[in-house]
Amino acid sequence: MYDAIVIGGGPAGTAAAITVARMGASILLLERGRFPRHKVCGEFVSGESLALLSSLLDSQHTVLLGEAVRIPQARLFLDGTVLCIPVSPPAASIARVDFDAALWDSAVNTRVEARQQTSVQSIAGVGPFRVSTSGGNFDARAVINASGRWSNLTAEMAFNGKPAERWLGLKAYFSEPSPHASADLYFFDGGYCGVQPVNLSGNPGINACAMVRADVASTLPDVFARHAALRERSLRWQPLSDPVSTSPLIFRRPQPERDGILMAGDSAGFVDPFVGDGISLAVRSGSLAAECLIPFFAGDISLQHAVQRYRESYDRRLAPVFRASSTLRRMLVLPRAVRIPLLFLLTKTPSVARYMVRKTR
Ligand SMILES: Cc1cc2nc3c(=O)[nH]c(=O)nc-3n(C[C@H](O)[C@H](O)[C@H](O)COP(=O)(O)OP(=O)(O)OC[C@H]3O[C@@H](n4cnc5c(N)ncnc54)[C@H](O)[C@@H]3O)c2cc1C
Repeated sequence: MYDAIVIGGGPAGTAAAITVARMGASILLLERGRFPRHKVCGEFVSGESLALLSSLLDSQHTVLLGEAVRIPQARLFLDGTVLCIPVSPPAASIARVDFDAALWDSAVNTRVEARQQTSVQSIAGVGPFRVSTSGGNFDARAVINASGRWSNLTAEMAFNGKPAERWLGLKAYFSEPSPHASADLYFFDGGYCGVQPVNLSGNPGINACAMVRADVASTLPDVFARHAALRERSLRWQPLSDPVSTSPLIFRRPQPERDGILMAGDSAGFVDPFVGDGISLAVRSGSLAAECLIPFFAGDISLQHAVQRYRESYDRRLAPVFRASSTLRRMLVLPRAVRIPLLFLLTKTPSVARYMVRKTR
């Protein structure tokens, strides 16, 4: 009987596992895939999450944060306007292939019992729990589900019975002479594409990552063709990797708990990637879920009480980010006639733009 089983070895799951293990509780971390591997992601790691990340990584891996390209500015290319917003504190651009592997290795080095290529098939009970996997059954007093936005354990919550528009995520690396040190977001009808410099094992490159409606584009060249400035810029690029893709992308209100199981990261809720806060929310919610369980492991409170604490803390500290992000998203899909004057206003009053970005942190 483990104190906790964490499902999913992404940023949320590893943050939870490391936090539990440091408190001396017994923990089993289960991951369906293997690391290192590429994931579709803009790889914008918000500055607000860097201190927590640095505390989670072990000493061998904090170098990743030091070597990361810093992003002190965001540029929004929309309707022929460029809106520049300072990113303060500066964000870091970190390739997920390195990032997820560093967190995984740090979990292993923190004496987390960690198994890759072990897919969780079902969870039974209300505490204790029985977790059935491709590698056998395991029991635990508590379960944290950090299996991402679209796993066999979260798809039903994400889909919610409604036929959704189909959105895709696409990513690839390119070389570009002297890339600008900014996160550049190119918006077009039916999607957007982010471009930012990234350090690829010591070599400079850029990450182009798009979120697009499936009926609008299904490849990165199709995406580049949707925005004149992006098309022009992409003519100077040489591919450095094969593209990777993911689908579907479904936004929903966060749900931090389900049947006594703590949900962390994207499995609790998927925030629109353009705010660049998904990784930060993942590590913060993973750590928070683990912290809320510690008094339960010590026998001071019941599991129900620990889950309630997590739900309340999540609603107070993390849910506001989802609300601010959906307000911003609604603004971007306003009719052009309303959007253009609004953007003009924002370019003239950068403090308002900065305030809006701050609300998504
Ligand atoms: C197009 C796009 C661009 C993005 N850009 C950014 C960005 O620039 N900045 C940012 O902060 N965020 C961005 N995000 C969001 C970010 O990628 C996620 O928020 C983040 O990866 C969430 O981490 P997680 O640990 O919750 O989930 P994941 O990283 O998805 O990890 C979940 C893990 O669970 C494992 N798993 C799934 N099912 C099972 C199972 N049954 N058993 C065992 N293991 C299982 C998976 O293999 C996976 O490794 C972007 C997302 C998309 C789609």
